[in-house]
Amino acid sequence: MTPAPDVQDDSGIPTVGVLGGGQLARMLVLAGAPLGLRFKLLDPAPDACAGQLAPLTVGAYDAPDALRSFVEGIDVATFDFENVPAPAAEWLAATRSVFPPPRALAVSQDRLTEKTLFRELGIPVTAFAAVDTLDELHAAVATIGIPSILKTRRLGYDGKGQFRIRSAEDVQAAWSALGPQAPEVGLILEGFVPFQRELSIIAARDRSGEFCAWPLTRNWHVDGVLSASLAPARASAGIREKAMTYARTLAEALEYVGVFALELFEHDGELLANEMAPRVHNSGHWTIEGSHASQFENHLRAGLGLPLGSTAMRGHACMLNWLGAMPDRKAALSVPGLHWHDYGKRPRPGRKVGHATLCADSPAELAAKLEQLGAALDRRAQVAPVVASLRDG
Ligand code: AMP
Repeated sequence: MTPAPDVQDDSGIPTVGVLGGGQLARMLVLAGAPLGLRFKLLDPAPDACAGQLAPLTVGAYDAPDALRSFVEGIDVATFDFENVPAPAAEWLAATRSVFPPPRALAVSQDRLTEKTLFRELGIPVTAFAAVDTLDELHAAVATIGIPSILKTRRLGYDGKGQFRIRSAEDVQAAWSALGPQAPEVGLILEGFVPFQRELSIIAARDRSGEFCAWPLTRNWHVDGVLSASLAPARASAGIREKAMTYARTLAEALEYVGVFALELFEHDGELLANEMAPRVHNSGHWTIEGSHASQFENHLRAGLGLPLGSTAMRGHACMLNWLGAMPDRKAALSVPGLHWHDYGKRPRPGRKVGHATLCADSPAELAAKLEQLGAALDRRAQVAPVVASLRDG
């Protein structure tokens, strides 16, 4: 494998190839510019939003011609999504330094492999079982119990490909909904976790094994899609320490390079891992303005052999996702301390089109700013749970 260039010793300007040209690639490009990096992108969509900022090769991820054109002139390659076809990741890894390692992608592409690895590493998870037939579903429900969630093992995201089983009558309905997909993507039944809070830890590991993590983030989802993130999460020292240990254990086991997210449920003082994302993550967008080095910057630093930047916070931060269409920018910008991110995407129901981050020196100040923003944009329901948690003490 060609070693990745060290930017400090290289007289040339490294070019980073990103497989995927969505908002994560776009924010990588924005973070890489001050480091003097150049980018090339590959995405099947001609209007992929990162293509507004860097040269875009349009083509399927596993199309040999597209891959060959993409790889020309790039020094290292990374990804803005995890469902990269394995042959494409391997092909890239054969000629270029690729981060994160293809094994991390493979593990996270299948919920069964992922949860099995967590369990092997001593990272607690809810009960789970692979399900391929209706009989196996009945058997799994008998063991795991109700409530539980039937999920596709592969290609599910943002709550898609999931069916919540609330009563015995739901078992057949769950099978009717997801059973037809079983031969193609596989299914898994998971015990439902009646969590008190959803948390995530965003962490980075560099090529020399140096590890760092940002303060724990608390997340709120609506219909399985992230709505708001708050950092720091105001979790107990014990919970913070567990999250850090689990993230470090995972990073070392996978010999990880780059940034990843570990999504966790907090339940009765324990943490259960839900899934990992082997990439920069939506719940880490607040790091752009809320910490000294953002997740995007540290992902690039890690992969290029540069020292990792400080993950210390600059106060308290809350990120709000904009789904479907961007809210009124003028009204939002009237709120002091607001940072606006428009991904330059066309509106579409449910689509992640942008986000905003509010930073403040104290929880009380952050709560007040959130209320101001909620009123200015008529999005009181979106900010309400975050405000309540900030006022909770
Ligand atoms: P996922 O696609 O696995 O990230 O799930 C999307 C969302 O569904 C999570 O953020 C949770 O809000 C919810 N969820 C998923 N799995 C479980 C579970 N086993 N117990 C309770 N809630 C879950």
